[in-house]
Amino acid sequence: MNIADSAKLAAGLDLLGHEQTERVEDADLIVVNTCVVREHAENRAVNKLAALRRLKARRNGVKIALTGCLVGPHLDDLRKRFPYVDAFAPPQAFDEIGGLAGAPCGGGFWDGVFPVPGGPTAYVPVIHGCNRFCSYCIVPYRRGRERSRPIDEVRREVERLAAGGAREVTLLGQSVEAYGHDLPDRPDLADMMRSLHDVDGLERIRFLTSYPADLTERIIEAVAELPKVCECFSLPLQSGDDEVLARMRRGYTVEQYRAVVESIRRAMPDAGISTDVIVGFCGESDEQFRRTYDVLADLRFDKVHVAAYSPRPGTIAARKMADDVPPEAKQARLQAVEELEARVAGEINAALVGTVQEVLVEERRRGRWSGRTRSGKLVHFDGELRPGDLARVRIEKASPWSLIGSVIERKATA
Ligand code: SF4
Repeated sequence: MNIADSAKLAAGLDLLGHEQTERVEDADLIVVNTCVVREHAENRAVNKLAALRRLKARRNGVKIALTGCLVGPHLDDLRKRFPYVDAFAPPQAFDEIGGLAGAPCGGGFWDGVFPVPGGPTAYVPVIHGCNRFCSYCIVPYRRGRERSRPIDEVRREVERLAAGGAREVTLLGQSVEAYGHDLPDRPDLADMMRSLHDVDGLERIRFLTSYPADLTERIIEAVAELPKVCECFSLPLQSGDDEVLARMRRGYTVEQYRAVVESIRRAMPDAGISTDVIVGFCGESDEQFRRTYDVLADLRFDKVHVAAYSPRPGTIAARKMADDVPPEAKQARLQAVEELEARVAGEINAALVGTVQEVLVEERRRGRWSGRTRSGKLVHFDGELRPGDLARVRIEKASPWSLIGSVIERKATA
């Protein structure tokens, strides 16, 4: 979501006549787009701001703007902590930054700004905010309640992106299957996918992040049926223990979660499924963690994003629950999940050696192309190619994190 926000911000600043600099030291306006979903991310943002303060002291006229989830509704505290910041803009509300950059007064400027793709892939928010209030999560406090964008508005944006070179769009929402419930005719994500499917030049549609209780059979069927929609799911589990899930206020049980995974795999046996897990949440016992570990070992995900719990000020967990799992236990659980994940992902990827995968060519680094399979796996390969080509790649080597292959067929970009 932050990448999508930054792309829109960059497109707006471009329209206002600004140019991107290679080095932060050369910039007249520096926008820091922050994430505070974990304490670690927040600390990085704060350290970055401290470095910029020194830069600003050395060079006259530099302006600093702060946006993203660090900017909540109450600015007084932020103004005290960062007096050298010139503008504070809540996520997706860029008027303050536009003011610094010379946007016309009176608002409305950002409504007419469409992001420009920097390559063959682009992110497109379809629903902003979240209504869920999981007890550990800061997002609803910072990004507000759910607001879906009308299908025709999203379609216009996707048409522009495809005309500008995007071959793949990822439809974004904190809980992307909540899409549409707040719109007059209540379309859903399946309707959105069908509407985008015939956009000229577009080859692939992805979507992030799924919420287990919202992922309906209708949406799973649409993913299975529509050739351009990639069979790739990001489906956070968070915990494999029902009591912990209830304390997290996740709104599903482990059994219900398993049923969703089974539905996906029944409809699409080759689907890629990644998940997110929090270890060391308030009150999590060894036995409860062991249940999470067992579910991960049993369901065998393509990727597990694991984080140790850190309280986020203002959330339900931070206000009402004790952060009582010792740091060493959190670290040991984190490591156990990482080791399991390396083994499982290594086995899943090894089974792909010898198969042929469709890969969208994304970028060249250190003399090699890279791109992703439909199921979301990173592949490195050589060949006479261009970003945006679709290639059929025979997989020759595998590690837990990526695949290596050689191109056997190329479908050129439009
Ligand atoms: Fe946060 Fe839960 Fe909403 Fe995800 S679904 S953004 S974890 S409140």
